[in-house]
Amino acid sequence: MDLIRSEPHSTGDFIALEDRYGASNYKPLDIVLTRGEGVYVWDVEGKRYLDCLSSYSAVNQGHCHPKILAALSEQAAKLAITSRAFRNDQLGLFYEELCALTRSHKVLPMNSGAEAVETALKLCRKWGYEVKGVAPGKAEIIVCSHNFHGRTLAIVGFSTDEGSRAGFGPFAPGFKVVPFGDAQALERAITENTVAFLVEPIQGEAGVIIPPAGYLKKARELCTRHRVILILDEIQTGLGRTGKLLAEEHEGIEADLSLVGKALSGGFYPVSAVLSNKEVMDVLHPGEHGSTFGGNPLACAVARAAIRVLKDEGMIENAAAMGGYLLDRLHDIRSNIVKEIRGRGLMVAVELHPEAGGARRFCEELAGLGVLCKETHGSTLRIMPPLVITRSQIDDAMTAFEKVLSTG
Ligand SMILES: *Cc1c(COP(=O)(O)O)cnc(C)c1O
Repeated sequence: MDLIRSEPHSTGDFIALEDRYGASNYKPLDIVLTRGEGVYVWDVEGKRYLDCLSSYSAVNQGHCHPKILAALSEQAAKLAITSRAFRNDQLGLFYEELCALTRSHKVLPMNSGAEAVETALKLCRKWGYEVKGVAPGKAEIIVCSHNFHGRTLAIVGFSTDEGSRAGFGPFAPGFKVVPFGDAQALERAITENTVAFLVEPIQGEAGVIIPPAGYLKKARELCTRHRVILILDEIQTGLGRTGKLLAEEHEGIEADLSLVGKALSGGFYPVSAVLSNKEVMDVLHPGEHGSTFGGNPLACAVARAAIRVLKDEGMIENAAAMGGYLLDRLHDIRSNIVKEIRGRGLMVAVELHPEAGGARRFCEELAGLGVLCKETHGSTLRIMPPLVITRSQIDDAMTAFEKVLSTG
């Protein structure tokens, strides 16, 4: 019967559906994935790929990790959501375990990363007025050039990326931008109205930009001296990605607020959190902030399992060891199109010379060879596999990179 449309089967069918009905706010590679396990994903044609993006770090623990999956299905069959109008038996345990792991005092659970960022900004402004004594309406928050903190209006308002901002104004006032990695510029920007400095320990979306050694330590000192809250956005760098639980550990510092998301659920569910000391978190009172889904029992059970396996299965140590190996292998590739290789742990980027004509073409070639990664800012390839990757799987990926990047 011609009224009954046949089920889509091929890559082309699925792409046509997406293009016909979906907003076009993404430009994905034309591969339609249907299954994942560990570092691998499979497309609808049955082709296997090694995932070198990990959904921007949401799936650090590997696709469909069996222990997180078990926690998800067990909890989903029992109780999924209560709203925060009532208490649930997973929330307190989630708080306790996350605080113990990250040595934090208090947790505020949300869903997406952007929501965690928004929550932190609200907390800091209120702290500024009530504790620091900033005059009403004057609170300032300092952010960095080339930042990426999400897509809400407040956040894109202080982005320096035109594509993220253009056409979305007017924007919220109260933000100041300083160059990333420049502690003197930060110092000059601080005034008596400054309540917070928001920064990524390593800028992910900007192309794995690692600040000069000592920068975060200096920022920590400045924030302490001027009574400014240091917010580290560890939504991408956190939970093992850089070879430490939190990237702040590389400089031996502690943020006042740390933001985690993405891998907090092992990719199963949107779970984010603001980790805080007591002084800042205590400015919030009932009714002043919240989220229907934040802290629901399903999210908590999934997150508890996701952080447990990170630790129990040695994923953080593996990220440090395999990250070093991956960098060594990349440096061995003889190529005159590679401008720079950067990385810490399994957060790695290869920046190409502009003459190479952009990174997209290389991502497409790599996909043909069974390796998935995504270009950022035109000419940078990011390599961020799940933290469970083995040496021989890195060897496989490097064979593909060598084919694509070698020029002699
Ligand atoms: C991904 C990301 C966010 C935003 O997270 P969403 O879950 O997409 O809202 C914020 N900050 C950083 C550093 C990120 O990488």
